[in-house]
Amino acid sequence: MRVFLGVKTYQLVSRVFIHPISPPAAVRCGRAASRCVHGSSENGKHPPSMLRHLTSKIKATGPIPVAEYMREVLTNPVTGYYVKKDVLGPDGDFITSPEISQIFGELVGVWIVSEWMGAGRPGTLQLVELGPGKGSLAGDILRVFSQLRSVLGETSVSLHLVEVSPALSLVQAQNLTGTCSREAHREDDPVYRRGTTGMGTPASWYRRLEDVPAGFSIFVAHEFFDALPIHKFQAGERREHVEVCAEGGVIIQQLAQRIVGDGGAALIADYGHDGTKTDTFRGFKEHQLHDVLSSPGSADLTADVDFSYLRWMAGGGVACLGPISQRTFLKNMGIDTRMQVLLRSCSDASSRKQLISSYHRLTDPADMGQRFHFFSLLHPGRLARPQHPEGLKLERKRSPAPLPVAGFSELSFS
Ligand code: SAH
Repeated sequence: MRVFLGVKTYQLVSRVFIHPISPPAAVRCGRAASRCVHGSSENGKHPPSMLRHLTSKIKATGPIPVAEYMREVLTNPVTGYYVKKDVLGPDGDFITSPEISQIFGELVGVWIVSEWMGAGRPGTLQLVELGPGKGSLAGDILRVFSQLRSVLGETSVSLHLVEVSPALSLVQAQNLTGTCSREAHREDDPVYRRGTTGMGTPASWYRRLEDVPAGFSIFVAHEFFDALPIHKFQAGERREHVEVCAEGGVIIQQLAQRIVGDGGAALIADYGHDGTKTDTFRGFKEHQLHDVLSSPGSADLTADVDFSYLRWMAGGGVACLGPISQRTFLKNMGIDTRMQVLLRSCSDASSRKQLISSYHRLTDPADMGQRFHFFSLLHPGRLARPQHPEGLKLERKRSPAPLPVAGFSELSFS
């Protein structure tokens, strides 16, 4: 459906996009592969400490389910894949959209401000990111907030990062706060690190979503749900598979409850399907497909997100939008306009080439444009027309239509 957004989101987009950031900075990295592409497999040469741990566990207590294997391999507090190394980027095992270009995070930032406006501009705004990787997406969003300071006014903004990996939390702290963050004194403090970003926003780190304080929040999860452990069921050696991400279902329920109770929205972006795929569990190492059982702990493990399952687990209390393709979302958010501004301010041929290449990576159907999807949870009141009490004269007036949800409807600049 084509929706004419008229002024509001268009104004946000144009305010942010007139700022010509230095074009080379808009591209973070070149041709490294994302996790949704398939390449050749290779064997690892890493020490077998995770292998030893798993072997002794299985010897002691018997076989373990796929979900436990995935959880141990990815997030074991000592030898887990995410816990011990910085896995993202050209030198890591995979690359993500926020690492390819900062345009991605800028558009998500505009989406958040637009949803905050759609919610009636509450006086506090918690930006909560699940699995923030290097902190690049949060940094790009906060930069948009500072460009839209006149729109946000006196709103008290805070940043809340849910991150299981101490190694990555340090990278995030460095990128977002420089040296302005400190570890908690007590081990049982649910906030294990606190800091202040370069723009003065207070930032807190948590291991679990449950620990993030209640309050109006916009939740962002980019390539987070695919990293959660899946249960895998298979009838016979060559028969159909069923994959269920129970932990993802629990987190979606928590998000839905918070949004219904405190207001806010969630934007979930990941590769996945709407209940149509069954066998997607795979490993990634150095940008190549990797056998999930080979040298565990040295490679990423992942499974496609089943958005139909997330929608079902969200229940009826919260409104769900999507999934829609990344290409559609970014185009609806005005990526083409942003590209034009950047290209106009960029005279250097190689930077122009990089900009165009990162744009194609994010939007081309054969690249990340079609494989990645956006899905959103919204407070049910967000999409409803305000009701006037019966019997009043006001009743005859048409209620104002709610502000359309940016990204999920086509932007028109007419
Ligand atoms: N969002 C980032 C990083 C994606 S990788 C990006 O798109 O670039 C997955 C991220 O989720 C990592 O930061 C990883 O450490 C974190 N993570 C994985 N499992 C987690 C869990 N159970 N709880 C919290 N964080 C988790």
